[in-house]
Amino acid sequence: MLKENLEQVEQNIEKACKKAGRARDEVTLIAVSKTKPIGMLREIYDEGCRNFGENKVQELCEKMEEMPKDIRWHMIGHLQRNKVKYIVGNGVSLIHSVDSYRLAEEINIQAKKKNVIIPILVEVNIAMEESKFGISPEDAIVLVEQIAELENVRIKGLMTIAPYVVDAEENRLYFRKIKQLSVDIGNKNIDNVSMEILSMGMTGDYMVAIEEGATMVRVGTGIFGERNYPKQ
Ligand SMILES: *Cc1c(COP(=O)(O)O)cnc(C)c1O
Repeated sequence: MLKENLEQVEQNIEKACKKAGRARDEVTLIAVSKTKPIGMLREIYDEGCRNFGENKVQELCEKMEEMPKDIRWHMIGHLQRNKVKYIVGNGVSLIHSVDSYRLAEEINIQAKKKNVIIPILVEVNIAMEESKFGISPEDAIVLVEQIAELENVRIKGLMTIAPYVVDAEENRLYFRKIKQLSVDIGNKNIDNVSMEILSMGMTGDYMVAIEEGATMVRVGTGIFGERNYPKQ
C-alpha cells in the first residue's frame, strides 16, 4: 500500500513540475514519518526514498539510529533550545524550523562545540496564524541578517506551514508571498545566506506549492496514511 501511495505522490509531483515548467529534480520529496513505526520507514526506504522528516527530537534520534546511514534527516518540528544539543552534530541534514535568534544562537553554540556547520531554514508564519510557530514575514529579513552573523549556522532558505485548508488553491497566495519574500531576501546578497531552498507544501497542498516554487515538499499522510493520535 505504501508503495502505491508513494507512486501516486511521485506522479503528482511530476505533474506539478510539468505544469510549472520545472524540472523534476528541482523538488525534493521529504517523507514525513512522525509517529510511524520503523517497518513503514523501511518500506519507503526500499522504494528509494532517502529524505525523511520528523518533528520530535527523541523520535528523530531513535529512528536515525535504526535506519540506514545514507538517509538525509530533516528536523521539521518546533525545536526547544534545551534539546538542540541532541541533534547538532549527529548527522541531521537540515533544521527547517528556526524562528528566533535565541534558537539559532543555541544551534551555533552546540555546532561550535562539535566543530560542524549546521544548515537551517528560517520558519515564516506566512499567514500569521496564532496557533503556528514561525517569524512574521515583516520580521524575517532582520532575523535572517542577525542569524547570518553566526559562524556555525548557514541559512539555506525559508520554510512555512500553510494554513489547513480543504481547497489547496486557498494557499496559493501564501506560497506566492513566501516565494517573493525569499527572492527579496536573496536579492540582498547577505553574506553566508542562500535562498536556494523553499520548504513548503504538505499532503493537502504540495502540488500548488510546487507550482509556486517549492523546492522541498513535506508529505506525511499522503505516503504513510493518517496518523494515529488525536489532532491537537
Ligand atoms: C506533520 C507535518 C507535515 C506532514 O503533514 P501531512 O499533512 O501529513 O502531509 C509537514 N510539515 C510539518 C512541519 C509537519 O509537522
